[in-house]
Amino acid sequence: MVNLSDSAEGPEGLKKNVFLTTIDNVYNWGRVRSMWPMAFGLACCAIEFMAMMAARFDLSRFGMEIIRASPRQADLMFVSGTVTKKMAPNIVRLYNQMAEPKYVLAVGACAISGGPFKEGYNVVSGIDKFLPVDVYVPGCPPTPEALLYGVMKVHEKVMGQSVRTAPWYKRDQLNEPLPMPVLGPDLYNPKDRDALKKLTAAKVEHG
Ligand code: SF4
Repeated sequence: MVNLSDSAEGPEGLKKNVFLTTIDNVYNWGRVRSMWPMAFGLACCAIEFMAMMAARFDLSRFGMEIIRASPRQADLMFVSGTVTKKMAPNIVRLYNQMAEPKYVLAVGACAISGGPFKEGYNVVSGIDKFLPVDVYVPGCPPTPEALLYGVMKVHEKVMGQSVRTAPWYKRDQLNEPLPMPVLGPDLYNPKDRDALKKLTAAKVEHG
């Protein structure tokens, strides 16, 4: 039994928290059952994604069958397949165009770490170098069941969030877009531009 007087904020504070917790549950329940995934197939893992969508595995049981082609209408990004250096800037651009709150699910070994192409000259060794990944689903490719489990893990994360602490509701937090990686001779983070310039200048100076 809860003793209201035990609360650090006193009975009034606890009542407020109970009220907000109920709001959180209703709000998150609605979000979990109306997520709109954005999909773009990068390689073979996308075939398993399609299987997950189809009747046998049936993503629509979660109310998630509306796959959006536009990032502006999506709140869950599946990165399914091999991320090439040429594609990475476009993936970050799409992510930046999604509205908050948004989530990222990395599908398969390639999206997680580069997979069998990890040391390839044109492959990114993990999309989490550029995007905040919420759930990783390993496998080459992961089965549709594993993908569904990953989706349920995203749901778990959403259910654990609160309107009190969610960054997208904080007045002082303007959700800054992520820096776009730039494809030069190689991919680099524009935040590192000054350091790279210095490095290049030093190399030129010393031959
Ligand atoms: S993890 Fe395996 S199945 Fe998935 S995109 Fe890479 S090579 Fe293809």
